[in-house]
Amino acid sequence: MELYKLSAYELHNLIKGKEVSVEEVVTSLLQRIKKVEERVKAFLSFYQKEALNEARKWDKKISGGEEVGPLAGIPIAIKDNLCLDSAETSCASNILKGFYPPYSATVLNKLNKAGTILLGKTNMDEFAMGSSTENSAFQITRNPWNLETAPGGSSGGSAAAVASGEVPFALGSDTGGSIRQPAALCGVVGLKPTYGRVSRYGLVAFASSLDQIGPIAKTVRDCAYLLQAISGKDELDSTSLDYPVSDYIQCLIPDLQGMKIGLPKEYFITGIEEEVKKKVITATKVIQELGAQIEEISLPHTKYAVATYYLIATAEASSNLARYDGVGYGYRTQERTNLIDMYKRSRQEGFGDEVKRRIMLGTYVLSKGYHDDYYGKAQRVRTLIKNDFDKAFKDFDAIITPTSPTVAFNLGEKTEDPLKMYLSDVFTISANLAGIPGISIPCGFNKNGLPIGLQILGKPFDEKTILRIAYAYEQNTEWHKRRPGI
Ligand code: GLN
Repeated sequence: MELYKLSAYELHNLIKGKEVSVEEVVTSLLQRIKKVEERVKAFLSFYQKEALNEARKWDKKISGGEEVGPLAGIPIAIKDNLCLDSAETSCASNILKGFYPPYSATVLNKLNKAGTILLGKTNMDEFAMGSSTENSAFQITRNPWNLETAPGGSSGGSAAAVASGEVPFALGSDTGGSIRQPAALCGVVGLKPTYGRVSRYGLVAFASSLDQIGPIAKTVRDCAYLLQAISGKDELDSTSLDYPVSDYIQCLIPDLQGMKIGLPKEYFITGIEEEVKKKVITATKVIQELGAQIEEISLPHTKYAVATYYLIATAEASSNLARYDGVGYGYRTQERTNLIDMYKRSRQEGFGDEVKRRIMLGTYVLSKGYHDDYYGKAQRVRTLIKNDFDKAFKDFDAIITPTSPTVAFNLGEKTEDPLKMYLSDVFTISANLAGIPGISIPCGFNKNGLPIGLQILGKPFDEKTILRIAYAYEQNTEWHKRRPGI
């Protein structure tokens, strides 16, 4: 049996039934990594030896009769902006090279408790800034469906690792779409939780009012299991909320009777690929057949979302990244004449172009005489965008849109034109600005065999409804079963 092809839930059943050992699962994935990683380049680091040791420990516990939870002994990968105690955490940036955090992110402690086995850390756009993973300072990750195309970003390493069968599921982070957009481009499932649902403690901050950690998996069920494990209030993150965590597995019922879903007309704009539009519309028909009522709605401030996001995200990033000055973290320049010179050179040598661009823009929009015109105004428009959703959710249980206007684009196609790259997130960023949850699931392929993603947005803290819709759709379609022929 080719274990690497299975979902986490399928692996769990085999492990629980003692049909395979955890060591066999880990070994199968390590072999798969050996076979494809040279081409995909999804990982920045591996914990091969530790993973095998953990696997053997689990096998002992299981043969000793210990109860096997749903995540026990299941291998996982994490984006390299999650701090892991004593392991290099680089954010795919030269400035953090050699940074070994003295603590682990809360989500990693939770996963550890649930029993997952960490296989490695995945590539990303530097500091999660980008939509193609090409902004990594270290390597280019390739989309397993076509190695000449980008996996999306910034969690492109995690999405490509799952799509290519190197790992059954992974964690990413989403500030403006970085879980959902790469999930769509790689033909897997990705979920951004409500802001405050999951602790950000130990996630290297990009834009603190937008960042959330979330799962990327082959199936909706696997996403639900991961979300269940990482959700909840954390004393170490004051923005995590003490709001009851639902049972995300119980809610997975393949029936949508009585549900009302909105289809916002602003998301079917010019610029969206015809095939993407067609597949999403076809998907809504399937959802309708499952019992949901679908109606066109309007989210009138959608057109301001990209501009608003790039003012707020860059402002917060410029402040968050001020700490990397060659003193406390990672890289320090060799050539220096005095303290100020050392700061400047360390930052100049350590950060890549996109990060510098954002620090400059963010510093400008926060500067004296301008902050109310730019940052202040952007915050006011953010409220209008949130109000659009609040209004829609008075009448509707969820909203359906395409995840990305295009399928995977060619490597290099958008790197010279940042504005073009920024438009990749036109459908995902509103959810971050409004703080609401969103999931992307596969809903078809274009004529060149590249995956297309469907996005479902929900009310704050109502992850269970979007999971339920996603699950019902998935159970009645075959898209999630297709795997790249790599
Ligand atoms: N692509 C968006 C950006 O470049 C979103 C990134 C993210 O969600 N981390 O900012």
